[in-house]
Formats: sequence, structure tokens, C-alpha cells
Amino acid sequence: MRKTETNQSTATNNSNDSIVSPRSIGTSSESRLKSIETRRRRPITLVINRGLETVETRRGWLKKLARGAAAIAFAQVPGFSFDPNAKASSHIAEAARDDVENQAEADETAAIEKLGNTAGLGRFRTTRSDHFLAIGDAAEAFRTDALAICELILLDYLDHFRAKGFEIHEPQKRLTVVALAGAKSFEAFSGEDPQGVIGGFYDRDTNRLIFYDFRRMNGPVAAARPEKANTLALVHETTHQLTFNTGLLARTRDVPVTIAEGLAMYVEQHNPKKRARPGEINRDRLKGLVLARGKRVSWIPIKKLIADDDLFGTKADDDTVQLAYAESWLLVHRLLTDKTKLEHFRDYLKEIQSRVDSTRRIADAAKHLGDLDRLDQDVQAYSKRLLRGG
Ligand SMILES: [Zn+2]
Repeated sequence: MRKTETNQSTATNNSNDSIVSPRSIGTSSESRLKSIETRRRRPITLVINRGLETVETRRGWLKKLARGAAAIAFAQVPGFSFDPNAKASSHIAEAARDDVENQAEADETAAIEKLGNTAGLGRFRTTRSDHFLAIGDAAEAFRTDALAICELILLDYLDHFRAKGFEIHEPQKRLTVVALAGAKSFEAFSGEDPQGVIGGFYDRDTNRLIFYDFRRMNGPVAAARPEKANTLALVHETTHQLTFNTGLLARTRDVPVTIAEGLAMYVEQHNPKKRARPGEINRDRLKGLVLARGKRVSWIPIKKLIADDDLFGTKADDDTVQLAYAESWLLVHRLLTDKTKLEHFRDYLKEIQSRVDSTRRIADAAKHLGDLDRLDQDVQAYSKRLLRGG
């Protein structure tokens, strides 16, 4: 599986009912995966910045860490499950471990600052929350808001998947979010054409989420609702980052793209402001099925979806990619919401944690998810039920 994922988002001013097809993205080293982001989301204006600590320089935050002032993001925000006292004591108890982590974090910060320098960007600044580290030339408010959303996604993600019986854990170190000021910074930093990559992407190799302020995007894909583009890209890509850092998926192992994308889309409807939960029906992805049918794009058998990552990449045409994403959402939603299937899906995800290549994909899926042709029939029937509104 390719380890870099590119998030594509819709951004035109057309009617609210269209799904904008992804455009192919050419890259020098590897073709990137595309995620078609869809419309009809509300802009997010969430600002929760109490407790978020912004430190302008690496040296500065190291000093603060030394003073023990590092802690806390959301302990003081009403409605969250974090217990401030428990949090405080756990921070003290973990001080020794933190020293090592802080060195790693300092190295990570230095590495990204260096990349920013090489790219000719202005000064990078850092914002930290309990589980995330934002660094980049984006404005402080943007970094802070982004991390607030990341923390909310994490809370709901952990709650949701634990309730479904998955043995997952909080990220063991702060996850890096490179927060860039706009399209120009993004292009300079990542080498990606921002016209093709709306919002950002999660890079499995570096484990970093590269994200830019879409409000500062010009040109043909400038968003009618840039806040929305920011948020949906952030939710989708943060979910990728979480699945690979909480024990659900193994970052350095083989994971069928359909599973990785299905999980991200299962959560992407999440709206931190409205406290919408992961797992809600993803109407935009369902619409992808309808559009594919309208264009007479044939249903992709589940077996093929699991085996063939090219369905999601630049080798496939846009309609196929769109359908592959829609079916991946459908498949994962089915596996997570049917009680019997859920149990088998948990075992399946455990099994693939040790896979170093794609040779056993079909065998693993068949072992845990049952006969794949039957599953295919089941998922097709499920899609029809959902489209009927049942
Ligand atoms: Zn994705």
C-alpha cells in the first residue's frame, strides 16, 4: 500500500448536490491516493483555546516543559471527560518518560523547522495540546483551532471505537500536524500542487499530517466555504493519523487502502461543533454510489476492492476512484455497525497488524469476514437499503 495519502476536497461554487470528482495528481516519487471530499458540510467556527499552550520557539517550550508547565489541553473545558486532577498527576508521574519524548519532540520540531527553512518559509511556530503538536507558519489562531478540533476528534474516536470493543490506546506521543499559512506555503513545503491537494494529507512514512489554511487559497479551486474545507480535510486526515497511532492499524504494515479509507470516511462526518459522532450515515459517499450508477460505472467486487489499491490511485479514472471510495465507506460502515460482522472485523484488523505485504489480503479477509462473494452481495444489499432510506 502506498503510504502517503492525499486528501482531495471539493471546492467549487456549484449546486449543493454535486459531488466533485477528484482530479488526478501527478507526483514524482509515487502516485498519491485520492480522497474525494464532498459537499454539504457546515463551516466550522469552533474555537476552544483555553488551556492550549502556544509557545513560540522550541527553546521556549523546552523551558516551559522544564518548569512543568507543559500539560493540559482540555481539562478545563466543560463537557469533556478529562479529569484535571488525574491529568495533572499523570503528567507528574510521566515526567521521566516525558524527558525522552521531549527530546524526540524537539528533534521533530527541529526537523520540520529545517524543512521550512529549506522551503524558504517564514518563521515556524509551535502550538501543543495534550496529544498533538502543531508547527508551521500558519497563524496562531489557526493552529490553536486546528488542535482543538484534533483533540475533539481523538476523544470521540477513542470513545466510539472502545465502545465497539476495539483495544485501542491514546497516541503514545504527540502527533505532528504541520500547519501552513496557505497554498503557497503548502506547495513550498510539501512539493505538492495545492490545486490538486485541497486541505492537506497524512503521510504514513513520516507520520505527519500536512495541512494548510484553505482560507488563503486562490485560483480555480478556491473554496466557496473554506472553513468547511479546512475542517473536513482535518477530520478525515486526523482520523487517518489516529487509526495508525492508536493500535487500530499498523503504520508500517500492509493495510488495504479500502480499509484505511473506509475508516477515515466512517469518521469524517464527525462535526466537533455539533458533537456529531463517528459512524453516522455518510450521505455524500452514498451519493457517490448513485453518481457512479448514473455514469454506468460497474460495481467493484469487494474482493477486488481489498486486493487492488490502484483503484484509489492515479492509475484509475476519476469515476472509478469515486466509486471505490464510496464502496469503501459502505464496506467499513457495514462491518462496524452489524453486530456479528463487527466481532469478525475486530479479529480481521488484529490479524493484518502483522502483515508485511499484500500477499495474504484475500486469505485474511476470507478467514475473518467469511466468503467474500457473499459479503459482496450483503454490502450491495446494504447499499440498496440505505439508498431507500431504510
Ligand atoms: Zn483518506
